Amino acid sequence: MKKHNFSAGPCILPQEVFKEASQAVLNFNNSGLSILEISHRSKDFVDIMEEARSLALELLDLEGKGYKALFLQGGASTQFLMTAYNLLQTKAGYLNTGAWSRKAIKEAKLFGDIVEVASSKDSNFNFIPKGYDIPDDLDYLHLTSNNTIYGTQLKDFPSTNTSLICDMSSDIFSRQIDFSQFDLIYAGAQKNMGPAGATLIIVKEDILGKTNRKIPSILDYQTHINKSSMFNTPPVFSVYTSMLTLKWLKKLGGITAIEELNEKKAKLIYSEIDLNPLFQGFAAKEDRSNMNATFTLVNEDLKETFDAMWKEAGINGINGHRSVGGYRASIYNALTLESVATLVDVMGDLERKA
Ligand SMILES: *Cc1c(COP(=O)(O)O)cnc(C)c1O
Repeated sequence: MKKHNFSAGPCILPQEVFKEASQAVLNFNNSGLSILEISHRSKDFVDIMEEARSLALELLDLEGKGYKALFLQGGASTQFLMTAYNLLQTKAGYLNTGAWSRKAIKEAKLFGDIVEVASSKDSNFNFIPKGYDIPDDLDYLHLTSNNTIYGTQLKDFPSTNTSLICDMSSDIFSRQIDFSQFDLIYAGAQKNMGPAGATLIIVKEDILGKTNRKIPSILDYQTHINKSSMFNTPPVFSVYTSMLTLKWLKKLGGITAIEELNEKKAKLIYSEIDLNPLFQGFAAKEDRSNMNATFTLVNEDLKETFDAMWKEAGINGINGHRSVGGYRASIYNALTLESVATLVDVMGDLERKA
């Protein structure tokens, strides 16, 4: 039986995408060949790459606005250094909202001065700092739109003339925002788009080429733009499956449609967390993520019972990250409302039992 998979990443993808991707591994488009054994220079694969790149821009409403979409390797973690390598001349600002921001800061420090514009570190990152000053001499300001570990999400983005860069690994394609306010967006595929292996980068081409730094070819965004994201062998399976997920999303009605569903799912889980006296939310209410809901048991003695109950209900992957503890229900795009309802039922059953 298929589990209700609340895993934080790698995570659930649409069932029909799993089916189509597995078929392509055995026999891609009735070619008698696997998607894994065809040349990445073949027309078949070049078409897949181009479709993935154009679907990404289309879904984000960034077509014809000077942006390029790339599917690269190395995960979001490589983007922590690649963004700074390509864009940091002297000084950049970082909003420190958790472990991923902190890692981005660490890498960027290799390339220039880093100003931490604000941080919620002193309260274990359970809220998003607001109302901070942004120095006017920054090359860019780096944000993390959704903090996967803590379950916080930026609901508003600073209105500023400073160039904005955003790590959207865990909430890209989940909600409608004005994506053109960012000069560069990056996201590891494995949280809301596809299997691990590919990283989506959306970059406004005219921000490149402004540092005097010599950049190794493979770390230079311009190289990948010039080579249509095929400078070296791309992660073919991850790109193919991401393309299938983006097609699925488009068919569903795009980001507007998925956002509506995501809001329903988030409302369902958070109202149970708030109404059920056995549970407590971790993140500040106004900053709660619609992708990762973090909560704890008020009485830890119930842990064994609760854990047995959700496992019995076919639920997978709700243990919290070690730095927060408790539970984390990741409710990414492909997770159904029915799966959330199953978890909410188990939480209610625990209350009736306890
Ligand atoms: C998971 C995650 C990362 C790290 O991604 P990798 O692809 O494993 O390098 C970075 N940022 C955020 C917000 C994440 O959720």
